[in-house]
Amino acid sequence: MPTENECVCCLGNDNIVIVTNENCCITFHDSFENIVLNIDSLNIVRHNLVSQCKSKISKDRYKIVTNKLWRHLAYKNFISWINSWTTIGRNNRIVIPACVVRQVGQRFPEETGFKEFEDIL
Ligand SMILES: [Zn+2]
Repeated sequence: MPTENECVCCLGNDNIVIVTNENCCITFHDSFENIVLNIDSLNIVRHNLVSQCKSKISKDRYKIVTNKLWRHLAYKNFISWINSWTTIGRNNRIVIPACVVRQVGQRFPEETGFKEFEDIL
């Protein structure tokens, strides 16, 4: 049975309506693939995060690439995109719509192991 958070529909989010400019699922938006699911876009975010980290432990967190990390970056990009014209407080939690969670999960499924990424930082 889905949790309350998993039932959140993107169509009920005012910021998504602003981005889509119509009452249409955000996953059908032309930019969804490029911003949320594209490895190159997510990699740029990852490299920026690594360069902003002050400690080696924090840097290392982004150097080993797993699907879990891609999902984290995809959600981060989604939130940044959808809320680009509003301020998000540091402690405010944003609920990711179920349709977005599903798309991101299909692209970057749960995995049991991890593989090291050839890093060019
Ligand atoms: Zn949707």
